[in-house]
Amino acid sequence: MAKIFCIANQKGGVGKTTTTVNLAAGLAKLKQRVLLVDLDPQGNATMGSGVDKAKLKTTIYQVLLGMADVRSVRQVSTTGNYDVLPANRELAGAEVELVEMDDRENRLRLALADVRDDYDFILIDCPPALSMLTLNGLCCAHGVIIPMQCEYYALEGLSDLANTIKKVHLNLNPELEIVGLLRVMFDPRMTLSQQVSAQLEQHFGDKVFKTMIPRNVRLAEAPSYGMPGVVFDPSSKGAQAYIAFGAEMVERIKQLEK
Ligand code: ATP
Ligand code: MG
Repeated sequence: MAKIFCIANQKGGVGKTTTTVNLAAGLAKLKQRVLLVDLDPQGNATMGSGVDKAKLKTTIYQVLLGMADVRSVRQVSTTGNYDVLPANRELAGAEVELVEMDDRENRLRLALADVRDDYDFILIDCPPALSMLTLNGLCCAHGVIIPMQCEYYALEGLSDLANTIKKVHLNLNPELEIVGLLRVMFDPRMTLSQQVSAQLEQHFGDKVFKTMIPRNVRLAEAPSYGMPGVVFDPSSKGAQAYIAFGAEMVERIKQLEK
């Protein structure tokens, strides 16, 4: 049965989508069966997987509202070699509509129950907010991966996110835990990056992934070709880092299961 992970951080532009797409493709290269769930109305993970969000008749929106099932909505990322539960702007409406529904925070969990045997990993790309959509992600996940940039303000939002995760763990989903913090867009030449990185290791110890993702322009270029960076330019430093991160994830899960 699939292990389910949310890639979450309520800060915008910190590398959530880049991490989700490249981890999905990296795990696919390691022969893992992966479903990427796009839980963001921006639809960036959908587009970055080579699925055109404008051409979709059904998306995760219908799934959350109980009008379609995952099997009929999922698409194949031919570039990344994994499946995608796609999203587009329509999903923004779900935020309001879900509030009226029964069991509103468990809609995604119930929908994914259907396909959990089809995959080794389900990766959920969360929007930049601690919203009802993100809550749906957290309620069905085993763990949260938190990408963060090593800059001064990065630490500020972390306590809000950690508190939300703690509350969900206590009240809604006892399985949920932080799997790890992933340092992204890392620039080793910047003293501040190094300082923040060292602080993270001090505070969070083993919860900080060993792999660091460097700032690398090939990762930023790849989405415009509808490709994960690890496929677009496998030899680039960014791609290599995400492949190493995929291997670290597989290893870490083996440890958790022991
Ligand atoms: P949002 O909060 O809007 O969903 P996000 O957290 O998903 O944003 P991304 O979209 O992954 O963040 O990344 C933000 C921008 O930074 C994008 O233009 C992306 O291409 C770029 N980027 C992400 N990671 C890297 C990296 N390691 N090197 C260079 N550019 C990167
Ligand atoms: Mg994003």
